[in-house]
Order: sequence, then C-alpha cells, then structure tokens
Amino acid sequence: MPDGPIDLHTHSSVSDGTETPTQLIRAAVAAGLSAVAITDHDSTAGWQEAFTAAAGTGLTVIPGMELSTNYGPASVHVLAYLFDPNNGEVVAETARIRDGRLHRAERIVERIAADYDLTWDDVLAESSDGTTLGRPHIADALVRKGFVPNRSAAFESILHWRSGYYEKYYAPSPLDGVRVIVAAGGVPVLAHPATHGRYRTMDDAVIGTLADAGLFGLEVGHRDNSEDGKRWLIKVAKKFGLELTGSSDYHGEGKPNRLAENSTSPEVLEKLIARATGSTPFAG
Ligand code: AMP
Ligand code: FE
Ligand code: FE
Ligand code: ZN
Repeated sequence: MPDGPIDLHTHSSVSDGTETPTQLIRAAVAAGLSAVAITDHDSTAGWQEAFTAAAGTGLTVIPGMELSTNYGPASVHVLAYLFDPNNGEVVAETARIRDGRLHRAERIVERIAADYDLTWDDVLAESSDGTTLGRPHIADALVRKGFVPNRSAAFESILHWRSGYYEKYYAPSPLDGVRVIVAAGGVPVLAHPATHGRYRTMDDAVIGTLADAGLFGLEVGHRDNSEDGKRWLIKVAKKFGLELTGSSDYHGEGKPNRLAENSTSPEVLEKLIARATGSTPFAG
C-alpha cells in the first residue's frame, strides 16, 4: 500500500453523502489517501461503483457500512468492515432498517408539513433511487425551500430530536448489530462513541459486552468526540484490548468534515484486514 493517510469512515449519495461513490473515490485520490473505507448508512450499494472508480488509481478501498443501532433512547452507530454483503442476516436486517427509515422520514415530513410548505416529493427529489433515507435529505429539501440556510441549521431547528417533528426508526441493539457483523465475517468498530449525548449512554460495562461479542475497535479520532471522551475511550480500549481508529466521517458538502482530518494507523488497518473473513479490500 502506498504512503498516505487511511480514512475509514466516509459517506456517498448511497446514503447521506452528497457525492456519488465515483466522486467520493476521486476526492479520496485527490486528498492523497492510501486507503479509504466507504461506509454508507445501512447499505452496501456503493461498493461496486467505488471499486470500479478506484481501479488503476493505487487507492485501496475497504468495503464497509455504518450500521444503525438503538441503545435505549440513543442512536448508536457501528462501523462494519469487510463482511459478506450477501450474508442473509445482513441483507435482511439492513433492508428492515432502511424500510423503517423510509416510513419514519414520511412521518417526520407529515408533521413538518402541518407547519411548513414541504411535501414528500420535495424530499424524494433530494435523494436518488434506493438511497438510505435520513434527516439529511429532509434537511436538503428544507434548504431548497428556503426555510433554513444549510443542513446544520436544519438539524439545530426543525430536525432536532426535541423539535416535536422527530421520530425514531427501527434498529437492532448494538449487541445484536455486532453479532450480525461478526457472523458475516466482518469487523465491527464503534463509531464516534464519545459525542455529547453518547458519552453518558455507553459505559465501560456495555463496551465490555460488545468486546466479548467481537467488537474490534473504537473510533477515537472523530471531530464529534469530546476531549474528555477521547481520554475515556483510550482507557476503555486498554481495558478490553480494543484497537483505536480515527476517521473523517466525510459527507461531501453535506458536512464540514474533510477527508483525512482524522486517520487510522497502517498497523491497525493491517490487524483489521487480518481479522476479516467476509470480503477483501479492493486494491485499486
Ligand atoms: P438520521 O440518521 O436520519 O437520524 O440522521 C442523522 C444523520 O444526519 C447522521 O448520520 C449524520 O450523518 C447527519 N447529521 C447529523 N447532524 C448533522 C449536521 N449538523 N449537519 C449535517 N448532517 C448531520
Ligand atoms: Fe450520515
Ligand atoms: Fe454516525
Ligand atoms: Zn458516518
């Protein structure tokens, strides 16, 4: 693998990134990355296009996904790498989550439509066919209609979970999520586990349980983790023998996060690849 940072958390338009998988791979090459993981929410639909786009570029693509899970009232994200995308449980569970997200988005839009001139078609116009729908697409419709200046403003107001329009969606528990990924030969890493809300919900004991089920690592390098939280994650990783990763959570223009603003060491990526049995990295 050539030199260059390793970024293990990015999104394309298959979920809530603003760039197609091809554009995402071009951006990763332009940023000088040696390896990038495509980790769309609850979908592997971008893998093939990403591989094709990476061919001949020297960039290694790690096929991945950011699996939605629910831990009590909290939404917990599990990054999953190198699993078998055709595994029956993975296919069934992600289809169920995407379907839940779709109907949940419809209900959120219904509620917003009581107060704002917004239709379901406005939201569909902001996403491509088969996209994992989320609040970011509703945000884009609100921006286009001129109700808010950008996605972040939408999340701080109309799309906030306390706004009165919010609704949750079906997702498995973090433990079941980890089990499904491990059973599919994949390698699970807890995404941004120390953001404001989550720092209090995930404690040592819970992470210990996930470690017993095969959790590989904790995403310590992420702009949403608090500094206090990062120190806590480093301690927890030592305690349970977990690896530490860092990544950008790039969403194209959908978020300020820039590629490689956080990165993962080549040694950790090597261990991650060695652990996986579900699929292999694509060496472009
Ligand atoms: P949802 O999964 O539909 O509840 O929406 C949450 C997703 O929206 C997260 O996965 C983020 O990628 C994205 N998101 C959260 N906050 C923001 C923000 N302030 N600006 C843009 N995207 C955001
Ligand atoms: Fe996202
Ligand atoms: Fe996330
Ligand atoms: Zn993400």
